[in-house]
Amino acid sequence: MLGIPFDANSSFLRGAANAPPLIRSALHSTSWSYWTELGVDLGVAGIFEDAGDISFSGEAFPCIEKAVGELLAQGRRPVCLGGDHSITWPILRAFGKRFPDLTIVHFDAHPDLYDELDGNRMSHACPFARIMEEKLAKRLIQVGIRTMNGHQREQAARFGVEVVGMQDLPALAEMQVGGLVYVSFDMDVLDPAFAPGISHREPGGMSVRETIAHLHSLMGTIVGADVVEFNPVQDVSQVTAMVAAKIVKELLGKMLA
Ligand code: MN
Ligand code: MN
Repeated sequence: MLGIPFDANSSFLRGAANAPPLIRSALHSTSWSYWTELGVDLGVAGIFEDAGDISFSGEAFPCIEKAVGELLAQGRRPVCLGGDHSITWPILRAFGKRFPDLTIVHFDAHPDLYDELDGNRMSHACPFARIMEEKLAKRLIQVGIRTMNGHQREQAARFGVEVVGMQDLPALAEMQVGGLVYVSFDMDVLDPAFAPGISHREPGGMSVRETIAHLHSLMGTIVGADVVEFNPVQDVSQVTAMVAAKIVKELLGKMLA
């Protein structure tokens, strides 16, 4: 687990940089146990390790790529805690160098395929355009999308993105991908009723139960993941922190089961 406290590419609201320590403290809360639904006890010493938060020295993206690359060089499977969604591009740069045939399963209300937003090609609205341009993944499967516009539709067609819109869920069969899998989980795929602590509230999203069912249905080897876009500034009674921690728990459990 690696915290990436970075939100400078968030187009509408800042705050996601403060998420990693709050997800961590929710994960370790004594209000629940370390057992995941798949029967993995995350409380066993050494079953997973916490690399702490990146401390940035210089430009953020090279620091992120380097930190993730170092974990991969040690044979680890990094689960990164964002931060805004722009961090997925440098994370995937580290993965792409080592795993040429990666399938990304991307949960999000938004396709994040803009060529640029407000003149920023590193915006959190753009990471999957950059990732596909650089061919850092073999397949990109997007789940829960409900904000597709004309430009992003063109981008999805151009890059061969497999988009499962919110109205087409469940997509449990589509989760049986096989091979090496990277999971990118934007908290705003959830309905804001379940997770209000996000920057872009898009009603009509997934329930916590639906997302867990999809994560549990994944086939293949999960080599890494990120959980991004939790914005504590927008949270209510720490409910989103607990939901983010629940997603992290079930992801870790799935990776270790
Ligand atoms: Mn996103
Ligand atoms: Mn989003």
